[in-house]
Amino acid sequence: MFDALRPQAPDMILRLMQMFRDDPRGGKVDLGVGVYRDATGRTPVMRAVREAGRRMWAAEETKVYTAMPGDPAFLDAMRRLVLGPDTGAAIATPGGTGALRQAFELIRLARPDATIWLPDPTWPNHPALISAVGLRQATYRYFDTATGGLDVDGMMADLERVAAGDVILLHGCCHNPTGADLRPAHWAHVARILAHRGALPLIDMAYQGFGEGVEDDALPTRRLVTQVPEALIAASCSKNFGIYRERTGVLIATGGGDVVQDNLTALNRLAYSFPPDHGARLVATVLTSADLEADWRAELDGIRRGMVALREALAVALRAECRSDRFGFVAEHRGMFSRLGLSPAEVEALRDRHGIYMLGDSRMNVAGLTADTVPVLARAIAQVTA
Ligand code: PMP
Repeated sequence: MFDALRPQAPDMILRLMQMFRDDPRGGKVDLGVGVYRDATGRTPVMRAVREAGRRMWAAEETKVYTAMPGDPAFLDAMRRLVLGPDTGAAIATPGGTGALRQAFELIRLARPDATIWLPDPTWPNHPALISAVGLRQATYRYFDTATGGLDVDGMMADLERVAAGDVILLHGCCHNPTGADLRPAHWAHVARILAHRGALPLIDMAYQGFGEGVEDDALPTRRLVTQVPEALIAASCSKNFGIYRERTGVLIATGGGDVVQDNLTALNRLAYSFPPDHGARLVATVLTSADLEADWRAELDGIRRGMVALREALAVALRAECRSDRFGFVAEHRGMFSRLGLSPAEVEALRDRHGIYMLGDSRMNVAGLTADTVPVLARAIAQVTA
């Protein structure tokens, strides 16, 4: 049986991490892997999450199964965090990846002939998950490499071609890998197209709080769900709660009746019976304790401001080193990532000559920088692009 298995394509990020570890140079800089790092290079446990863990440990009297859709307190808290006053059917999932997988499974149950439209480029796991589930996919234009901004005209023209019942995947904020986000006017335009084409949005919200702020990052999603009859939202708690390894996420569906919740619950049963609970309970504890929630929001906002400050410093340094505004978009982008628009040869030169690691498509993780390495990166980019 196993001899029929074919090798899987290697994971480029894991390969890059290995190369970084094997690099003996002292001043090497890792801008590859997509996790938040503070100024000392650590990915810390957030204060409120640590305290929530202490309280849970003291209060928890059982580890018996929770509800099949997930802990109701977690689902309520996440609906409030993502949707504000609106509501919808929901299941807890293992991370944002689990939420996306369940979203695609739900679409397959409801409409196996739907095409899922993905931004070009997008997080590589999007097309991989869709292929695994066996749905059709297509891409819409999104990013303009020449300007580092959006290709708005191309995007809207492509979305005008989607069929009724198709699904349009949108990054709620902090687009991965480019860092280029839709502005409110673009969201309004997308909503009009979705409504008149009869297509359904699937919003991937993996970085709420990393862009403009926890509430502001959710505003486009909150507005959109009031403008279309049905929507899916896959939200991850990995980044904004710093609980990557706990595998905590939620899939929310707005519109439709009880049958939607019924099917979502069944999808959890079919995949793993009960979703993981520890991370969900940490999140619910934070979001239902006024003191912890306030502290979490404050720490998250500090993280966000730190990344915006790094962006601004990098844009200034690049302007000085390159004597051009070519990389001005770095200050406009939001979230952890920016795609710099460097060629594969330039990315390789950064790695080989300067010990600076980023993905082959020139996606850099801003949170991998510090005040000390910003000028180092700017000088190296100026050299490899000269
Ligand atoms: N969507 C996007 C765009 C992401 O970047 C990620 C994480 N890299 C995820 C979803 C999933 O995150 P997780 O499964 O770790 O919660």
